[in-house]
Amino acid sequence: MYDVIITGSGLGGLECGVILSKEGYKVCVLEKHHIIGGCLQSFKRNGIIFDTGIHYVGSLSEGQIFNQYNKYLGIADKLHLKKMDEDGFDVIHFEGQQYVYAMGIDKFQNTLQERFPNEKDNLRKYCGMLADTGQSISIENLRKGFLSSGDLTLFSLSAYETIANTIKDRTLQNILAGTLGLYAGDKCSTNLYHHAMVHYSNIEGAYRLVNGTQQWADVLADQIRRNGGEVFTDSEVTGIKIKDGIATGVVINGNEEINSKYIISSIHPATTFDLVEKNPFIKKAYLTRLHSLSNSCGMFTVYLAYKKENFPYINKNHNIYTTNNIWDNFKQTCDGKVASVFMSMQAMENSQYNIVTLLFPVSFAQMEKWTDTKSGHRGNDYIEFKERKKNEALNLAAQFFPALAHNIEYCYTASPLTYRDYTGVPDGSAYGIVKDYHFPIATLMRVKTRIANLFLTGQNVNVHGALGVTLTAAHTCAEFLGKEYLAKKVGSI
Ligand SMILES: Cc1cc2nc3c(=O)[nH]c(=O)nc-3n(C[C@H](O)[C@H](O)[C@H](O)COP(=O)(O)OP(=O)(O)OC[C@H]3O[C@@H](n4cnc5c(N)ncnc54)[C@H](O)[C@@H]3O)c2cc1C
Repeated sequence: MYDVIITGSGLGGLECGVILSKEGYKVCVLEKHHIIGGCLQSFKRNGIIFDTGIHYVGSLSEGQIFNQYNKYLGIADKLHLKKMDEDGFDVIHFEGQQYVYAMGIDKFQNTLQERFPNEKDNLRKYCGMLADTGQSISIENLRKGFLSSGDLTLFSLSAYETIANTIKDRTLQNILAGTLGLYAGDKCSTNLYHHAMVHYSNIEGAYRLVNGTQQWADVLADQIRRNGGEVFTDSEVTGIKIKDGIATGVVINGNEEINSKYIISSIHPATTFDLVEKNPFIKKAYLTRLHSLSNSCGMFTVYLAYKKENFPYINKNHNIYTTNNIWDNFKQTCDGKVASVFMSMQAMENSQYNIVTLLFPVSFAQMEKWTDTKSGHRGNDYIEFKERKKNEALNLAAQFFPALAHNIEYCYTASPLTYRDYTGVPDGSAYGIVKDYHFPIATLMRVKTRIANLFLTGQNVNVHGALGVTLTAAHTCAEFLGKEYLAKKVGSI
């Protein structure tokens, strides 16, 4: 009998596993796939490592919040990281010009100020707002016993409108939204908190993982095992058993039952409750509401491998837009032809190849035809669709980086359906439930559920992305350990 069973071995599930096993709980993490990691997974083709879902991560420098969590988790010195270019880790290509995001909030502000001198005061105000958002989860707050400041105001404000109301210059308004692909930015729904949190943490300290993101999942799993916990692959949770309104354990692969005192699910809340055995405590209306929540669009990834001499490593990301409105350009790409692309590179030390990834959004509507198919069996029209998308993205990026079009050694693609089949996310959504600023209460999930000993974690609950998922893991585990205790413990390492 375990104390806690955790469904899913993505970052959220594994971090809960480390925290609770470290604090004396007997935990067991169950992963349906044959590899752990979810979006942290790396996969190999022709001996080359490709990453699934994390291109860069913020707040990882000494004294920054993510680094502090990693210290508490016991993995800070085990991750092989590469700091991105401090003079410009993100480049925004817009209307024939390039604009850089420099690292450090003052440098970020000063660099943009040089290009937009008339916006000095407005930029100061905007950067102040970003910094305040970052401070809401500061190490100082942890030391005082708070996981976050608990202010939900920014969730009910529009990111698009706030930028438009703060900044006068139309070009600068666009440049500040230049990395909106990281949160599937939508004019009509994206809340300010998501924009500010994702943006600020990268500005603070952006890093890539060297030689693949799988290492992150592996070191977390090692910590769990070292703390006496267990991590099993090929173990799909196919049911959650309920007795007298309380969860008693899970069914794996349709035939084996494992019991536990508590369950944490890191998978989508609607999927989680589909697994829960029928019981009078869960009303149909609740399930209908969970299923009616919108999920973010999915992402299409083109992986390109070049011999190192044919395409040298670039320690920045390039965000390429082809129209004069970034928000519309992203949406346009999502619904039709590729008109904007995020270009990143993996930091590879032990390989003769450099890997470029081109990322762009694809709406569910574009994928609908193949919804009922499985990977490898979707038919020729799907292969043609993927080939067309790949060419659209490659042709666009090659206008800015001509060398991309030549000497490609290997090329692979992953559509939102690939993500759906490998990580179990509904419709292949990249970032989970959309936290619409019009409905902050309805779209933000609580970690507690209507089943007293069943908890939620992972990207659907609060903010997606590596940092967002880590903060949520802390909130989930705080239900077991107490918020003040956990905050002080993480803060005082
Ligand atoms: C293309 C892409 C690019 C991204 N880029 C970045 C980036 O650069 N930086 C960043 O910070 N974030 C990025 N993100 C977001 C980030 O990867 C995610 O928010 C985060 O990794 C999600 O972690 P999770 O634990 O919530 O879920 P997941 O990683 O999805 O893990 C869920 C796990 O549960 C397993 N599972 C599902 N159903 C079951 C079941 N029934 N039984 C057992 N196991 C099950 C899945 O197989 C999976 O392993 C990106 C995401 C995508 C898709």
